[in-house]
Amino acid sequence: MTQYVMHGLLRSADQGRPAEEGRCVLHLDMDAYFASVEQRDVPLYRNRPLIVCHTSSDFCSHGVVATASYEARPWGIKAGMSVWEARSRCPHACFVHADIPKYLDNARRILRICERRSHRVEVFSIDEAFMDLTASLQSHPPGGERWEAAREVGRGLKEDIRRELGLTASVGIGPNKLVTKMASEFQKPDGLTLVTPAQLPDILAPMAVDKLVGVGRRMRRNFRAMGIETIGDLARTPREVMEWKFGVIGRLLWRAAWGQDDSPVVRSGQSHEVKSFGHSLSLRGGTGDLEYLENTLLGLVDAVTRRMRRDGYLGRTVSLRLRVGYSMGYARARTLEEYTDLSSPLYAAARELLRREASSGLWKEPITTVGVSVSQLRRRGEGKQMTIWDCLDPRQEKLTAALDALRDRYGEGVVTRASLLGDFALSGMNLAR
Ligand SMILES: [Mg+2]
Repeated sequence: MTQYVMHGLLRSADQGRPAEEGRCVLHLDMDAYFASVEQRDVPLYRNRPLIVCHTSSDFCSHGVVATASYEARPWGIKAGMSVWEARSRCPHACFVHADIPKYLDNARRILRICERRSHRVEVFSIDEAFMDLTASLQSHPPGGERWEAAREVGRGLKEDIRRELGLTASVGIGPNKLVTKMASEFQKPDGLTLVTPAQLPDILAPMAVDKLVGVGRRMRRNFRAMGIETIGDLARTPREVMEWKFGVIGRLLWRAAWGQDDSPVVRSGQSHEVKSFGHSLSLRGGTGDLEYLENTLLGLVDAVTRRMRRDGYLGRTVSLRLRVGYSMGYARARTLEEYTDLSSPLYAAARELLRREASSGLWKEPITTVGVSVSQLRRRGEGKQMTIWDCLDPRQEKLTAALDALRDRYGEGVVTRASLLGDFALSGMNLAR
């Protein structure tokens, strides 16, 4: 009964803007991507627990898990977990270093395969992409026939990826990015899930609320305190209550609970949206002199903010990147309350990060590179409209920091505008944003 009432409610509500008529979006998510690439290339790794790590140690003893193969997952190994914990849970697994250039190369080929089927492909992370199929399926009338055609596209896409790259992917198809992203999770691995607008209420309502894009641990706690356990519970909560309690995010999550998301599929490489501003400096011979490092940092922050002001950007997150000796590189980040393009608040935050690192005892060797970047940008004077994708789970941050450290290791040159490895915004979530 409750279920019925809830669904009735969901169906009758038409409080958001109506979705673009006949819009058809596809989300592609590679299955255990890094691990699958390794298992494809190295027969020894097949059919056994394989854990791909972001680590600077030769023996994969520190760092974080990047991807665990499906064989390792019964042991509860997840991306973002420390390698140490993964080792204690699954000591018999194979541990290997992540080979980011190789995964990027495969990702580029996957992108090319996607682009054969749609001109609007958005790279969302190293192993995920959105495709807007609306234009390419224009010849099919909206409704059942178009959805079937979309399913065919999904099938063909998976087949091409399997044949040409020997990898499996899961595909979600639906009326917007939000729904497809959730749909691709439904039948992992090697899944193909179509969710039409008509099926949406029945599918969403009973799902746990933390399955919703943007609901992280903290939000889940808040919801639990309000008695919201499922997406249906959230949808039934008056929108005003959500807005009053959580502001813009509350409204976005409420709309998401109704399966509404207007955010466009933005073709990668087309939006020349800058993701971050950064500068770094190599220190010949290295130094452990904190005062010297602080002065260098100030100079870098100054240079970065000067460019931000020139290009009309404000930013909120400042990241400090350090290379210790000639091997270990890592990054630390802090997010400010307010957007700014001024040196002083950004420098203060970066310096605090630096001082904390200096006292951490991690520096066994002199610092050879110091870098700073500012991300989470918005254009001055432009209140960028927030979307549900702006409130993704911070759990991913750990992984991004590790990826950033890797980028440091491969070196982006002395002065970089971090365009994040060509097409591939590894941040994906704009975590690094
Ligand atoms: Mg994946």
